[in-house]
Amino acid sequence: MKRAYNFNAGPAALPEAVLAKAQEEFLNINGSGMSVMEISHRSKDFESIINKAKSLLIELMDIPEDYDVLFLQGGASLQFSMIPMNLLPEGKTASYVLTGSWSEKALKEAEKVGTCEVAASAKETNYSTIPALDELNVAENAAYLHITSNNTIFGTQWKDYPETVEVPVIADMSSDILSKKIDVSKFGLIYAGAQKNLGPSGVTVVIIRKDLIQKNAGLPTMLSFQTHADNDSLYNTPPTMSIYLLSLVLQWVKDLGGLEEIERLNEQKAALLYNTIDESNGFYKGHARPDSRSYMNVTFTLKNEDLTKQFLAEAKEAGFVGLNGHRSVGGCRASIYNAVPLVHCEELASFMKKFQAAHT
Ligand code: PMP
Repeated sequence: MKRAYNFNAGPAALPEAVLAKAQEEFLNINGSGMSVMEISHRSKDFESIINKAKSLLIELMDIPEDYDVLFLQGGASLQFSMIPMNLLPEGKTASYVLTGSWSEKALKEAEKVGTCEVAASAKETNYSTIPALDELNVAENAAYLHITSNNTIFGTQWKDYPETVEVPVIADMSSDILSKKIDVSKFGLIYAGAQKNLGPSGVTVVIIRKDLIQKNAGLPTMLSFQTHADNDSLYNTPPTMSIYLLSLVLQWVKDLGGLEEIERLNEQKAALLYNTIDESNGFYKGHARPDSRSYMNVTFTLKNEDLTKQFLAEAKEAGFVGLNGHRSVGGCRASIYNAVPLVHCEELASFMKKFQAAHT
């Protein structure tokens, strides 16, 4: 069976080796005679799976000891609310950098909880840029500064992170977590829905500095970080299958050589596509300004709507999946997360060149 050239934005491609391993263990996990979906989340077998996922993530991202790793549900979208509910007290302001639709959504939810301000916005450039670090206007009484490290829809990505701000930096890393080495200690909290670089949907990873986990008796139990920290992410039934697959993906990253190797491959993959765009004499036009380009989501358009439509139709015919831009912006988008093989990017670059040759 030939696997698809999968450029979906999320849920997205998973490593074939991970799927094969899951298939091999599907009916019988760890000699139990049961599938991972059929065992108790309090069993020794599941305990070793969740512990493995946590320790691999700590190892791969070099997460310092004063941070906790939580596996939650509700997607990154629930974090848009949980973060201000837990970390934005009355009398303080939350500062948000707007770099696309997801940061707009994060701000909108936070505004329902407390006082917020925009620290910088790239809306004027139609979200084709990342604001300069020295242009961030963090509120004087800020509780935290929120950024979206990679903008899945517009295809932009932060290259450097705010370092000099006095308040905790919170990053939505849903679409670039684990794609490169980062210094976790620069952040107060990092969160990500799993369905791009980490595994299937259903589990959301939260990496939080322990001093930010505070009692807040007024919060619903399930919405308090403390509940999940105190119970090792086992307060209620967790998404066991998703956490199992997450552990396999993390093992795959480790076996591949860790984040250094992943980063090297991601740079190579992105360069293939951006070079194709840059060398096309304007046939393909990248949306992001070159210094703000995402290594995960490559967004581009063609000369006009008709040609874009034709490109997408022929690409589909040739076996490329998921190249349509997000429904809110149109155009084309190739999502090239960790699990998308280099050869699939080579195939896409070669298809783009052939399409150009046939239409000029
Ligand atoms: N933030 C970013 C950057 C995203 O790309 C997405 C989903 N595509 C979300 C948040 C929302 O994630 P979820 O669907 O897990 O709620």
